[in-house]
Amino acid sequence: MKNSSDIDHLITALPKEATCYGYCPVCDEVHYLTEGNSRKYALELIAELEQNKRIDFHAPDPEPIFSTDCLWGKRGGQMFGVLECVDADGDTVVLRAFSGQFNTRWQAEGWVSPAFDLDGYHRILPKIELSVHQMTDDIESCKQKADQCKLKFEEAMRFGGRAAQKDCRRQMREAFKTLELSKKNRRAYSQSMLPVFQDLYQLRNFKGDRHSILNVFYEDRGIPTGSGDCCAPKLLHAAAQKGLTPLGLTEFFFGKENKSSTKYHKEFYLSCKNKCQPILGYMLCGL
Ligand SMILES: [Zn+2]
Ligand SMILES: [Zn+2]
Repeated sequence: MKNSSDIDHLITALPKEATCYGYCPVCDEVHYLTEGNSRKYALELIAELEQNKRIDFHAPDPEPIFSTDCLWGKRGGQMFGVLECVDADGDTVVLRAFSGQFNTRWQAEGWVSPAFDLDGYHRILPKIELSVHQMTDDIESCKQKADQCKLKFEEAMRFGGRAAQKDCRRQMREAFKTLELSKKNRRAYSQSMLPVFQDLYQLRNFKGDRHSILNVFYEDRGIPTGSGDCCAPKLLHAAAQKGLTPLGLTEFFFGKENKSSTKYHKEFYLSCKNKCQPILGYMLCGL
């Protein structure tokens, strides 16, 4: 296992055409993909998006939620990706992905599914939401109690005797302590649920391995939210699942420029450093 500056060094030595890469700790090298012929398919996709103004152009009945109008709204545009592959017969297969969700949807006709277990997600989400909801109710009632105690204390300070003041102060302090504790509980619970969600990402590679993102993400700074949701991991996971061999990958941004002004309409981008590179070495392994 190399350190991060050695890995950066390996990455700078990659061919200029590399669009998607990551360090693989098992092979102790950087695996990568170039654009191949995928740029052509990406341009076709851009033309289709412009022409149809929706992403479910394979579905007979368009759903308003899949209109590309949202990419020009407040939230801004989003990344799209195209993976050129060959199947066992040597025929070209082109996979398409949008990053994360499209307008609150994880799936759309004609696009690869997310890299996590969507059924599992729908199974655990209601339970977790219910618990968070109950904890929020609990916080709310603690807050009301604390506010009441505060009023009582203020009243005692004006009109009450010393003993009543002392008693009200104690009650108020206890109520605020309980309120803090209830907030802390909810925070701790939400944090403890994060690995449960992350474990739903059982990522595949081209050696036939299947591992949780928790075991694959090699940096120890914690797994950033949204890891595994970018186009590259979605596409590679789908290709491995379908028994396809990837040849080239292109990712582009479509829509209003992002808030940090780092991504622009119809510009092409490499796979990202924070969320993708620490898993792509594993995912590209075996190619
Ligand atoms: Zn990424
Ligand atoms: Zn490897």
